Amino acid sequence: MRLILLGPPGAGKGTQASGIINKYDIPHISTGDIFRKNIKEGTDLGKKAKEYMDKGLLVPDELVVDLVADRLTEDDTKKGFLLDGFPRTVAQANALDDELNKLGWSLDNVINIIVSKDDLIERAVGRRICKDCGATYHIKFNPSTIPGKCDVCDGELYQRDDDTKETVAKRIEVYENQTSPLIEYYDDKNILLNIDGAQDIDKVFNDVVVALRSNN
Ligand code: ADP
Ligand code: ADP
Ligand code: ZN
Repeated sequence: MRLILLGPPGAGKGTQASGIINKYDIPHISTGDIFRKNIKEGTDLGKKAKEYMDKGLLVPDELVVDLVADRLTEDDTKKGFLLDGFPRTVAQANALDDELNKLGWSLDNVINIIVSKDDLIERAVGRRICKDCGATYHIKFNPSTIPGKCDVCDGELYQRDDDTKETVAKRIEVYENQTSPLIEYYDDKNILLNIDGAQDIDKVFNDVVVALRSNN
């Protein structure tokens, strides 16, 4: 299965990704996670990306496209993949199409998670992430058993630098201007699946599975 997860910041892409990759046994390719790893390791790419991420802006296409193209040539993508947070511009979507053509692959579906703006801000601002394993929690909607500690690995939970109210609002605006045209882009290709993300995490997941089943 070759899939894309589309949706505004805080919609629940990462949360749904963990269930999807488990069920369909495909690797999770999150450009946001790749950038955060580079920032943590202090690489040149991380330093460049951080300047944009802290402002809630998109990292320039040329820093993202080659990274994903390289990732797609790794062995584990032969069984499929789940792209999360990529593409985010029409230029990235075109570059992805070119890359997939070269590989002789096509996309199966684009899962578009829909959530209202007020909910997005509350979700992103309350988001907490495990420093060690990357598991995602929410202080109200999906709390860890012990506050500040990861249920999976006991690691410490932290809040992303860009999950402040102001930066999230900026990211939503950037999403509306630069990323939302992809909804039409993939709808025109008849591979878009719209999912109501304003439901419990399990219910959203169930809707994703049902939609994938009836379209493949
Ligand atoms: P969210 O899912 O909350 O929107 P991500 O973790 O996907 O957040 O992305 C965090 C930030 O990383 C974005 O605001 C942007 O600066 C950068 N980023 C991630 N993926 C891309 C991409 N495909 N193109 C440009 N910038 C990206
Ligand atoms: P994205 O990757 O789209 O930015 P996340 O998966 O990180 O979004 O989710 C953002 C925040 O919202 C996290 O704190 C997560 O625990 C929470 N969340 C995810 N899905 C739901 C849901 N269906 N209902 C309530 N909260 C959710
Ligand atoms: Zn953990």
